[in-house]
Amino acid sequence: MSIHPVDSVTPSAPATFTSSGPASGEYIAQFAIHNSQDVAAIVARARAATHKWQNQGFSGRARQLKRWRQLMLTRFDELTDLVSRETGKPQADATIEVVIAIDHLHWAAGNAKRVLKRHHVAPGMLMFNHSATVEYRPLGVVAVIGPWNYPVFTPMGSIAYALAAGNAVVFKPSEFTPAVGYWLVDAFNEALGDPAGKHSPLHLVTGDGTTGNALCRSLVNKVAFTGSAATGRRVMTACADSLIPVLMECGGKDALLVDTDADLKAAADAAVWGSVSNAGQTCIGVERIYVAESVAGKFIDMVTERASKLRVGAQPDADIGPITTPAQVDIVTRHIEDGISRGGQARVGGVESVRAPFVEPVVLIDVPENSIAVSEETFGPVILINRVQDMDSAVKLANAAHYGLGATVFSKRRGKAIARQLNVGMVGVNSILPYVAIPTLPFGGCGQSGFGRIHGADGLREFAQPQSVAAQLFPPLLKPTSFARSRHTMGLFARLAKLLYRW
Ligand code: NAD
Repeated sequence: MSIHPVDSVTPSAPATFTSSGPASGEYIAQFAIHNSQDVAAIVARARAATHKWQNQGFSGRARQLKRWRQLMLTRFDELTDLVSRETGKPQADATIEVVIAIDHLHWAAGNAKRVLKRHHVAPGMLMFNHSATVEYRPLGVVAVIGPWNYPVFTPMGSIAYALAAGNAVVFKPSEFTPAVGYWLVDAFNEALGDPAGKHSPLHLVTGDGTTGNALCRSLVNKVAFTGSAATGRRVMTACADSLIPVLMECGGKDALLVDTDADLKAAADAAVWGSVSNAGQTCIGVERIYVAESVAGKFIDMVTERASKLRVGAQPDADIGPITTPAQVDIVTRHIEDGISRGGQARVGGVESVRAPFVEPVVLIDVPENSIAVSEETFGPVILINRVQDMDSAVKLANAAHYGLGATVFSKRRGKAIARQLNVGMVGVNSILPYVAIPTLPFGGCGQSGFGRIHGADGLREFAQPQSVAAQLFPPLLKPTSFARSRHTMGLFARLAKLLYRW
C-alpha cells in the first residue's frame, strides 16, 4: 500500500509532520497538521454524511461494516506490517492486536440492532394505560482521539461501536501512528465504494495536540478519548466550554495478585507476558505484582528465568521491540532509577538495560510503595514484584493506586472473591487480560483511569442517546394532571397510591 500524498487529505495543509519507524527511523509517510479551519471543514463533511448513514438502518450499516472487516482480512498482512513498522512492535503482537480489533468490529456490527433498537418497557402501575418505549439514537458526529500503543485495537473500540450505532466519526490518530489511522479510514472508504471518502461517515484528521484540541472545540457531539490522564484533563477542559460529553480511557497501574494456592508456573508466565509484551506499553499491562510471602521465592525465580531469556530488538523474531516514543524512554529510566535508589533490588537488568530506543526487561523486587515505579504508570518492560503477607494486604495495596483500570488474580480457590474486592473496571482470574478479547464485556476504568465504557452493550450505548416515548393507549380512569381535576379525583388518586404501594 502506498500512503497518500499529504495534500490529498487536507483543505489547506500549510504544515506537515513525518511519521517514521521508532527502531530504524525508516520514513513512513508525511501528513498534514490540520489546523482548526481544516478540522471544522472535515467535521462538517462528516456531519453531512450522518443522515445517509443513519438512514441505512442497523442492517445496512452492518453490511457496510462487514465489507470493511472483509477488506481488513484480505489486506491483513499489509495492515499488520504497517502497525509493526510504525510502532516498532513485533509482527506477532501486531497480529494479535488486529485480530482482536476485527472481532470487536464483527460483534459491534452484529449486535447494534439488538442492543439499541426501540423496545418496550413496563409502564408501571400508575401509567398502565400507556405504552412505554426506549430507543438508543445516534449522537451525530463522534470524535475519536487515539494513542500510539495499540493504534488499531484501541481506536476501533470507539470507531466500530460508534459507526454501528449510526454516528459519523472523525478520527485523530496519535501523531506517532498516523499511517495506521490513514490505512483504517482508507480501507473503510474503499469497502464502501467511495474511495475519495466524499460521502463517508468516517473521516481522518492528523496532527498533534493542537489538532486534537481543535477537534474538541469543533462542536462534535461526543469526544471518545484514549490516552494519558494528563491529556484527558485537557480534553475535558476544552469540551467543557460547549458541554460536549466525553469518554475517558486513560492510563493504569494494574496489579497482578498471586495467592498461596496459585498455579505458579501459569502466574509467572502471565506476569512476564502482562508486564513486558509490547515492550510494556499497554494501558492494561501488569505494572505491579503482589505475591504472597510463602510462595514468593519460587515465583520470583520463575519470573527471573523467563524474563532473562527474552530477545529484544528490531529483528523479526524479537519478543520485544523498541519503546515507540523517545519521551517514554526517559520515563522508564526514571522509574528504574527511583525504584533502585529507594531500596528495590534489580534481579534482572537495571538502568543499564535502557539502550534507547530499546529497553531490555528489568525485574525489580521489594520496591518501596512510595517509589514512582510503584505509584505512576511506567509503560515500559519493567516487572515489579513486591512480597505481601497475604491477599488482604495485596488487595489493600492494589486499591491504593489513583488509577483503577484492570487487574489480574492468580488463585485456585479464591480468585473471583478477590476480584470483587478490587476497585477496578476489569479483572482477569487465572488468565492474563482475557476481557480484552471478549466483545461482550465492557472495557474501561475508574479514578484516574477515566470513565465510560467501550466494548459490549455498554460500549454501544456509550455512542447513543436514549429517547423515551410514552404513548397513551386509552384514557385514564383518573386524571390528576389536568386543571379539570376535582378534590374527589385527587382523593381517589391518593387512596390508589396508598393501596398500590402499601406492601
Ligand atoms: P497522550 O495523552 O499523549 O495522547 C493521546 C492522544 O491525545 C494523541 O492523539 C494526542 O495527539 C492527543 N492530544 C494531545 N494533546 C491533546 C489536547 N490538548 N487535546 C486533544 N488531544 C490531544 O497519550 P499517548 O502517549 O498517545 O498514549 C499513552 C497513554 O494512553 C497511556 O497513559 C496509556 O495507558 C493510555 N491508554 C489507555 C487505554 C485505555 O483503553 N484505557 C488504551 C491505550 C492507551
